[in-house]
Amino acid sequence: MTLIHGCGKPGCRTLTMGTFCLEHEQAAEARLRSRIRRISRRGRGPAITFAVAVAAVAAGRASGRLG
Ligand SMILES: [Zn+2]
Repeated sequence: MTLIHGCGKPGCRTLTMGTFCLEHEQAAEARLRSRIRRISRRGRGPAITFAVAVAAVAAGRASGRLG
């Protein structure tokens, strides 16, 4: 497993340590946040779904900011 690799976004060649480059990571994060907002607004998703989504955001942020 390499530490530095290309961004996960198709067509983007920016090197990153996370799944996406900084730009696309922020876009993915914003998408995830709006998804969380939708889930919580709906009130149908169990609390664990919200917790897992928050953990995913935190994990993505941590791996993306290491370098
Ligand atoms: Zn990118």
